[in-house]
Amino acid sequence: MALRPLIAIFGTTGVGKSNLAIELALHISKTCKGARIINADAMQVYAGLDLITNKVPDTERHGVEHLLMGFKQPGEQYVVGQWVKDAIRAIDETHLREEIPIVVGGTSYWMQHLMFPDRLAGTQPETALVLSESITSALTSLPPHLLELFNSLPQQPPDAAVDPAAASALHLLLLHLDPAIAARWHWRDTRKVFRSLCIVKDTGRRPSEILSEQAETVLKPRYRTLCFWLYAEPSVLHRRLDSRVDAMIERGLLDEVRALHSLSQQPASTDTDYTLGIYQSIGYKEFHGYLTAPSQTETAFNEAVENMKLSTRQYAKRQISWIRNKLLPAINATNAEDTTVPTYLLDATDIGEKWISRVRDPALQLSRDFLNSADLRDPLTLSETARTMLEVSDKPVDPTAVLKAQRKVVCSVCTVDPTQPFMVDEGRLAAHLESRPHKRLVNKKTPEQYKEENRLRRLRQTGTPKVTAESEVETETSSGSLFSS
Ligand SMILES: [Zn+2]
Repeated sequence: MALRPLIAIFGTTGVGKSNLAIELALHISKTCKGARIINADAMQVYAGLDLITNKVPDTERHGVEHLLMGFKQPGEQYVVGQWVKDAIRAIDETHLREEIPIVVGGTSYWMQHLMFPDRLAGTQPETALVLSESITSALTSLPPHLLELFNSLPQQPPDAAVDPAAASALHLLLLHLDPAIAARWHWRDTRKVFRSLCIVKDTGRRPSEILSEQAETVLKPRYRTLCFWLYAEPSVLHRRLDSRVDAMIERGLLDEVRALHSLSQQPASTDTDYTLGIYQSIGYKEFHGYLTAPSQTETAFNEAVENMKLSTRQYAKRQISWIRNKLLPAINATNAEDTTVPTYLLDATDIGEKWISRVRDPALQLSRDFLNSADLRDPLTLSETARTMLEVSDKPVDPTAVLKAQRKVVCSVCTVDPTQPFMVDEGRLAAHLESRPHKRLVNKKTPEQYKEENRLRRLRQTGTPKVTAESEVETETSSGSLFSS
């Protein structure tokens, strides 16, 4: 069956996504049966804080239906998996009515999981846990104390500073179960080591194998999708965001915060958490502190304003980096195959008179062509900004590349206690070998350490030697010397 159409609009806060969506919906309604807007903003799903979360007021919606907006209670938890399910339902309904769904929002993470299925852990149907061959064989050769540790993993990762022995034991366990992933984490990074062990427990498989598999799986889009990335030059955007904060304050931001705060003072139902959901929105956090302080000085107020502006700008930066580093690579990976996801950057730096020529008109034209299944123009020809921003992100989405990039090696010269090895990023090994602390220890080295030193130098010259996973574990556990994968 041919994939059904979907239009997606993403971009940072304050670039005019909602306006574009409404203009598109109205335009489509003239030619097709209609269009509905589906909200993909993690804060706008909640009721309340309409101003702070930038919900389009009813009066500005021009009768266009907005779904999944303001329908969750402020303290309710609502996460990506639930949203994807709700969005799929809303899109199905829209298609049944022969209308066009337009998904709009700043939570690109949600959109990505909607556009490309099967990437979310936990979305697979639950089946009985089957241990993979590699895990089975690793478990059978585990020393008893590590097997016991695996069978009774702690609830929380230990703090390496407080309990280094527990931290290194966890790392050693991971090294036996999945050497490749263990080489990625420093033993002190207990949170990541622990998380990898939990994946082994939950899936019965090596995290590194799961990663490689994901790298090989070609992402198939769920819908025939047309994407618009609404983009504004950061310097211009930041000024715009700053003045938006000032405007919000004038229009009653403090009243919204007060109202929401008083809600949180009422007796809570069991599924309500006043630190989650909308209580995490930018603006609430900053002004809640100000409002609940014993005295509300002008200085404290100004500080809250500055903090909100800063948080907003930082949020916009994070949004851009998600789009460039996660979403676009996922889209590009799809584009390598037969099903493509055409993605256009629309330059919304100037939302005044250039909005029509740079944003609205190209979007309307492209949507028309897309819905008529006509040939679409090359996204890079749209503007100079489009060429720059879309081209730099053209790198393969390969999770194993990250794995390789962060690989750690043990410097046995600098290791005092073999159970708590001294680890260096492989990429920094050359610098480490030349460093003063390392050289000082080299001068005191034993014959074994001389050998090790030469080995490290060879590694530096020739790159990583190809060794099997098993022999690495052997090397590491028997002598506490260099390992890599
Ligand atoms: Zn060293």
